Amino acid sequence: MHKRFGLVAILVAVTAMVLSAQAQPAPPTAVTVIKAGRLLDPETGTAAVNQVIIVEGEKIKAVGTNLQVPAGATVIDLSKMTVMPGLVDAHTHMMLTYKEKPENNYYYLTYVMESSPLRAIQGASNAIQLLNAGFTVVRDVGNGALYTDTALRQAIEQGWLPGPTVIPSGPMIGSTGGQYWPTPEMYKNHNIMYPEYIEANSPDEIVRAVRENMLFGAKTIKLCIDCKPWMYSVDDIKLAIREAAQGGCKVEGHVQTVEGAQHAIDAGIYIIAHNYLTPEQHKQAAQKGIFLAGTDTPFTPYRGTQQAFDHAVAQLKSAYTAGVKLTFSTDFDYWNERMKDEKTGRWMTRGDLTINFLLTWKAAGIPPADILRAMTINGYRAADVIAERGPIKPGLFADLIAVHGDPLTDIDALRNVGFVMKNGMVFKKDGVMMPEDFFHPGPVRTPNGRWTR
Ligand SMILES: [Zn+2]
Repeated sequence: MHKRFGLVAILVAVTAMVLSAQAQPAPPTAVTVIKAGRLLDPETGTAAVNQVIIVEGEKIKAVGTNLQVPAGATVIDLSKMTVMPGLVDAHTHMMLTYKEKPENNYYYLTYVMESSPLRAIQGASNAIQLLNAGFTVVRDVGNGALYTDTALRQAIEQGWLPGPTVIPSGPMIGSTGGQYWPTPEMYKNHNIMYPEYIEANSPDEIVRAVRENMLFGAKTIKLCIDCKPWMYSVDDIKLAIREAAQGGCKVEGHVQTVEGAQHAIDAGIYIIAHNYLTPEQHKQAAQKGIFLAGTDTPFTPYRGTQQAFDHAVAQLKSAYTAGVKLTFSTDFDYWNERMKDEKTGRWMTRGDLTINFLLTWKAAGIPPADILRAMTINGYRAADVIAERGPIKPGLFADLIAVHGDPLTDIDALRNVGFVMKNGMVFKKDGVMMPEDFFHPGPVRTPNGRWTR
């Protein structure tokens, strides 16, 4: 009897709490109205003039001409600018920066000399630098130590700091040795250089590795297809794709050989990283609708050779001509003392260095409208976020940027992003970062303060 009475009392108390919670009026949601001189739609490669975008809270409420400005709304005048959706780097590594000194560009040594917590903090800084350059979605695919990438996503989602929406892969999954050739001393006890890779050498191990990454917050799965001569078979890749799908993840394959590329294509992988495909394989990838994150490195005073650049340009051209779904991607994970702006002498930011990959796209002769599509629409699809963010459409998260000039005729206009909005909050205005709204003691943006994927 006592027990039952106790239950009834709890029920009454809970009901009273729920009722009192319902009686509280919801706080008013902030409304922001953006007046866009030109509004660029990368899907169609066109721009409409004098558009109004109404943002309510985190999301876009309406887009059109002559919309009524709601009472009490904050008005942002971008009537002299081109407003467009945020940019995507579909393949980067924010938590790895190898250097000429002291490690002689040898990234094994970076893993040894820089702790995971230190690399996590550098990732947070890189995320801010990328958002400042207009990147609102970033796929971060491996070489992030022990889940610094999923932690960064979590921290940004919880409202601790500004940053793009991060699509993390967790550690890359590969066969014995991962992506490089450890000494027995490094390998045997997995104390050094691990956990950069999860080794999976059989179907059971592949299933376990995919599940582990998803358990710890991965939003995409990254496989080293052919980092070793003992490469993944078509069946191995298909298994990973099936398993990843159970957790809502798509699979990207690091591919560096023609044979590996064929396995990835035959398995119907979602994204191929790096562009070592033959022209024939470009056609197959196009036919199967496989995304390419070509990581098309330009030749600059701080990186590359003319020969490597010519190859990257030819490969990008071949993929474009074949109609492959191209994304803008960098594989950025290095730094040196030559990374200074030639005109001003100032250090280039991670954002400047990322946008500089436009050099390769321009050299490949790809029209601005198609570069813009790769940097936005294809990026949102490759990142698998298009149902909730990316395009400037009612119901989606308000992620948008603005530039002076017209990127449809001069793609270099993207080098100078003057305005950035992420999740309805202004991050940059008149070319100046103003990130106050993004810093909370948090967690304020997660249900019940508990983060789940
Ligand atoms: Zn990479």
